[in-house]
Amino acid sequence: MSLKASHRAMVPFVSVDNMMRLVHHIGIETFIADLAQAIEEDFAKWEQFDKTPRVGSHSDVGVIELMPTSDGVLYGFKYVNGHPKNMGEGLQTVTAFGVLSDVYSGYPKLFTEMTLLTALRTAAMSAVATKHLAAPGAHTMAMIGNGAQSEFQCLAVKAVCGVQTVRLYDIDPAATAKCARNLAGLGLNVVQCETPEEAIEGAQIITTATADKDMQTILTDNMVGAGVHINAIGGDCPGKTELHRDIVARASVFVEYPPQTRIEGEIQQMDPDHPVTELWQVITGQTKGRKSADEVTLFDGVGFAIEDFSALRYVHDRIKDTPYYIDLDLIADPDDPRDLFGMLKRAK
Ligand code: NAD
Repeated sequence: MSLKASHRAMVPFVSVDNMMRLVHHIGIETFIADLAQAIEEDFAKWEQFDKTPRVGSHSDVGVIELMPTSDGVLYGFKYVNGHPKNMGEGLQTVTAFGVLSDVYSGYPKLFTEMTLLTALRTAAMSAVATKHLAAPGAHTMAMIGNGAQSEFQCLAVKAVCGVQTVRLYDIDPAATAKCARNLAGLGLNVVQCETPEEAIEGAQIITTATADKDMQTILTDNMVGAGVHINAIGGDCPGKTELHRDIVARASVFVEYPPQTRIEGEIQQMDPDHPVTELWQVITGQTKGRKSADEVTLFDGVGFAIEDFSALRYVHDRIKDTPYYIDLDLIADPDDPRDLFGMLKRAK
C-alpha cells in the first residue's frame, strides 16, 4: 500500500494566491454580490443555526477570536485577529483563515485563507444592510476610514445598492489617496475629502471602518442628518466604538446577533436592554426596516459567524472544477480506521 493511499482524505485548500485568482475569475463585484445573496439565504434560515458570541482572547494591543456556527449540515469557523497597532508596524490589522466541515462525518471540506474573504464578506454584509435600510434611491456614500476594508465596502454598495459616488476621508491622507487610486476606473465617482464634515456632505449613506483600540467619536450627533443610513463596522470589540452615544440613542439600531453586539458593538455604550432589531427579521420580512424618510438607521455591524459560514460555503461551491485550490494532506485517514498506529509504523 502506498503511503498516499493509506491516508487519502484530502482537504481542498485555498491559498491567498488562489483566492485572488478565484475573485478575478468570478469578478470582484459579482463575487461580492454573490456573497450578499449567500448571506441573505443564510440569514433567512437564522433559527436553524447554532449561535454563540465569538470567543475572544483579548490583550492590551488586540484580540484573537474564534467564530463558530453550524446549520446542522455544515459547520464553519473562522480564526481572526484585530490589532489596530499592526498597521503602524507594516502588518494587517485583521487577518483570518477558516474551515468548513461536514457535520455528519466531522471531516473538514475546506480550509481557506480568510483575510481577503473577510474583507469581501464584511463588504457584502454592509451592502445587505444598506439595501434593506437606506433611503430608496440613495446614491452617495461617505467612507470614513480608508484602510484595508474600504475599497471593498465602496464596491459592495455599488454592486448591490447602485451607489454611484463615494466621498472618502481618513485621518491619514495617504490612506485616502490609496483608496482613491485603487477605485480609479472601477465605475465610481470618487471624491477625496479633507475633513469628515466634508465627506458626509450630500451622503445618504455613511460607512465608518476605522481602527483604534478605544472609544472614538468618528461621528458626532450634529453630523448625522435626518434620513441617513450608517454602517458602523469599525467598532467591533469591548472598549472599541466609533459613534457618539447620542447618535446611537437617536437612531433605529439594527444588529446581527444581539448577545454578541451588546458586548462588541456601538450599543455597548447603551443600557443592556437598549432596543435593537435583528437584521435577519428585516431580511425575512417579519419586521420592517426603515419606517420613515426622516429616520436615521444604524447597522451596528460587528461581524457574525454566519457571514463567514456563508462565505465558506460559497467558496466551497465555487472552487469545484477550477484550478484555484490544492488538495491538502490534513487528515490522517488510514484504510482501517482502527489502525492509526499501523499507518505510522508503515511510513517509517
Ligand atoms: P486598517 O487599519 O487597514 O484601516 C483603518 C483606517 O482607519 C486607517 O487608514 C486609519 O488611518 C483610519 N482611522 C483611524 N482613526 C480614524 C479617525 N478618527 N478618522 C478617520 N480615519 C481613521 O483596518 P481595516 O482592516 O480597514 O479595518 C477597519 C476596522 O474594521 C477595524 O477596526 C476592524 O477591526 C474592523 N472590521 C470589522 C469587521 C466587521 O465585520 N464588522 C470586519 C473586518 C474589520
